[in-house]
Amino acid sequence: MSKFDFAPMPDAAGFFGEYGGQIIPPELKKIMDDINDAYEEIRQTPGFQNELAQLFADYVGRPSPIFHASRLSEQLGGAQIYLKREDLNHTGAHKINHCLGEALLAKHMGKTKVIAETGAGQHGVALATACALVGIPCEIHMGQVDIEKEHPNVTKMKILGCKLVPVTRGTATLKDAVDSAFEEYLKDPVNYIYAIGSVVGPHPFPKMVRDFQSIIGTEARQQFQEKHNQLPDYITACVGGGSNAMGMFTAFLEDKDVNIVGVEPSGKGLETDEHSATLTLGKPGEIHGMKCYVLETENGEPMPVHSIASGLDYPGVGPQHSYLKDLGRVQYESVTDEECLNAFMTLSRVEGIIPALESAHAVAWAIRVAPTLEKDQKILVNLSGRGDKDADYVADKLGL
Ligand SMILES: *Cc1c(COP(=O)(O)O)cnc(C)c1O
Repeated sequence: MSKFDFAPMPDAAGFFGEYGGQIIPPELKKIMDDINDAYEEIRQTPGFQNELAQLFADYVGRPSPIFHASRLSEQLGGAQIYLKREDLNHTGAHKINHCLGEALLAKHMGKTKVIAETGAGQHGVALATACALVGIPCEIHMGQVDIEKEHPNVTKMKILGCKLVPVTRGTATLKDAVDSAFEEYLKDPVNYIYAIGSVVGPHPFPKMVRDFQSIIGTEARQQFQEKHNQLPDYITACVGGGSNAMGMFTAFLEDKDVNIVGVEPSGKGLETDEHSATLTLGKPGEIHGMKCYVLETENGEPMPVHSIASGLDYPGVGPQHSYLKDLGRVQYESVTDEECLNAFMTLSRVEGIIPALESAHAVAWAIRVAPTLEKDQKILVNLSGRGDKDADYVADKLGL
């Protein structure tokens, strides 16, 4: 390709190259197409654009600032590290950006209930928040095991007024919560909407969630230009399903001089079974209604994946990431649990910013490469969320 031209992705059928699409029963295809039509219609209207822009400003607190981590950069002795502070958003992470978009769309379509699953409770809290604001009933399915582990998020969801459905079947974790939420959705998909929590699932969700999140990179690109009169040499973000990363990357895809790096969790090591490095070690396959890179066992089942950051342990990944990997436009690297923990502590102690364990993966990659670069080079890290939710776990683990 002589010129980068990614803006029109995906095509009308929801494909990014060979990835994406709608691998779902015909009845559901019609419903997904209706969601796509409604989205394409309202996204053009000034009414919707203004409403979302106003909420981003007055409710989420956008634009989020970019902070120069100068002490950290100096200690590393190489490139300058900058942080896009999505951790400062209302509810403490990037997820609120797409949850607001999805809740507004649901309301516009006259849906009577928003349904979703949640693992660690991050998507559940962001969605319950958006639904409270927009005034639409919300039902979150969560594994009983996770409910016991994630007490603060469970309490928040209850306070925010969503209906929390404990799931006790199977292993009572995320996978079972997905099945349970999806069954509820299938009872009335015309009137309900399933709010997917990342750039995954059948078309149009990878596109819609990306569009709602792309505010991150749009702001960052402009902020960088204004302050430095140039773009960063590197931009980086952690990749679970891939929504904060697509949010950061989209505005920079056509900037050839900007190196783009997605960071996956290699958990306890790529040589073990306990990682979640889908783009690094997976193969093209199918999961949750789309084609993408997938980590599978020998029998073709999704692999039970692991990461110290529960928001990153997904055996699939967004179809656009799969495509960008094949094109070579984005480079995908991985970081272990141990490197993640070190980055978590380093950022806390050198800059006074406690990052989410998910975001600490991107910080860890920056810490790894900064010393190999020149002092006038710039790395922009998407700090997708804050680490309050992880503080007790890390303190326990390190015996603090
Ligand atoms: C959920 C979450 C992620 C992972 O989701 P993506 O869709 O890959 O962005 C990353 N960071 C934080 C703080 C999260 O809550």
